[in-house]
Amino acid sequence: MRPHALVFALLVLTRFVVAAPSAPSPATSPAAAGSTKPSALRLLHRDPAAATARTAFVDVNVLPMDAERVLLRQTVLVEGDRITAIGPVGEVAVPTDARRIDGTGRFLLPGLGEMHGHNPPVGSSVDYVERIYFLFLSNGVTTVRGMLGWPGQLELREQVRDGRLLGPTLLLAGPSFSGASVASPQAATLRVEEQKREGWDLLKVHPGVKREVYDAMADAADRLGIRFSGHIPLEVGLEHAIARRQETVDHLDGYVELLGGDQGPLDPARLAAIVRSTRETNTWVVPTMALWETIIGAADLASMLAFPELRYLPKAEVERWRVSYERRLADPKFDRARARRIAENRIVLLRALSEGGARVLFGTDAPQQFSVPGFSIHREFPLMLAAGMSRYDILRSATRTVGEHLAATDRFGVVAPGSRADLVLARGNPLTDLAHLREPAGVMVRGHWLAGDTIAQVLAAYAERRD
Ligand SMILES: [Zn+2]
Repeated sequence: MRPHALVFALLVLTRFVVAAPSAPSPATSPAAAGSTKPSALRLLHRDPAAATARTAFVDVNVLPMDAERVLLRQTVLVEGDRITAIGPVGEVAVPTDARRIDGTGRFLLPGLGEMHGHNPPVGSSVDYVERIYFLFLSNGVTTVRGMLGWPGQLELREQVRDGRLLGPTLLLAGPSFSGASVASPQAATLRVEEQKREGWDLLKVHPGVKREVYDAMADAADRLGIRFSGHIPLEVGLEHAIARRQETVDHLDGYVELLGGDQGPLDPARLAAIVRSTRETNTWVVPTMALWETIIGAADLASMLAFPELRYLPKAEVERWRVSYERRLADPKFDRARARRIAENRIVLLRALSEGGARVLFGTDAPQQFSVPGFSIHREFPLMLAAGMSRYDILRSATRTVGEHLAATDRFGVVAPGSRADLVLARGNPLTDLAHLREPAGVMVRGHWLAGDTIAQVLAAYAERRD
């Protein structure tokens, strides 16, 4: 049975499709021209009852993420896409028409943000787009900042926003500013104006941009009120990028280079100085620790090939990752000792940034080599713990801090009345063990509820079909 048909059957059986849905419209996105098959996930998302119903999480322990605390035995009410009430179970009345979700012994926390994520590449099939978005949601990732735009991608953001496509809320960077795409200050200015006009949420910086071109981009961005984020081009350098108020430094790019971290230990005084200026300029960092170990060749290929979550992606894609990693290691210029040194210095660096009060945003660069959407959060957690971040610090970087970063777009990232109803229902307390976020009892995205058993069944269908 094809996953779509299977999923649709499951959803009918589990009474998810309450109202008879109308025939699905064929794909309209240029990104998704490969298939016109009915999509059960899309039907689920279009189900009007799911969008308007009231839901009550009854007798649940809540991690509101406004502070490091757990509110025991609460009722949380959701209406439409908003949290409307929260209070002790005996004090919050559950409306008679509300769907009740038993929270006994479970822990409810805000949905997580993937702040350096990617959309499926241009030309992907509908099935693949849905699969990637569902993988994010299956692990409680309800907001994704897409860090590489391509023409037509904005349509996906709109499809998710208006309910034609089930997925995390998307914030999108436009096609990147790189050495190849912007050769002159004039070209940079025009590109900023164009992307602002087209409606991209931010600009993406890639390597290779010359300093005068970067400055022209920054000037135009300041003038038009759009921010730029991403890599630190070598010729620009970290200190200049921070001074020009690059909004996020992704992958901790530029730090190791500035501090000579590929040669030896980081100099404590210089490290303290750059941490201070990161904090004082309110620059955010998106470490993507696990992914970067893969990119620099410091990760172990056999361990990565054994990741169980690879089974949810097409076989050909995993094979491309393997080949690319083997090629990296086989490069005569590849120096494993240097790669390990950089990886270790990145841990020291993240520790200094976190302890020094710099604002850390959670990101894993999924989907990307061995970084499987959603599941990749569990590859990132151990490295953040190794850098001395507490479980609360880590969760905060994926919830409240993301909400603060994107406060101009919506209210989310905490469990409080008025917040967007993006929620994860964990089977145990993640403040005790982050592994409790595995196989959640359910995930809510903008008020749409995905029960744990439904998630498991959809994942099983994806594991069945990997072409
Ligand atoms: Zn990326």
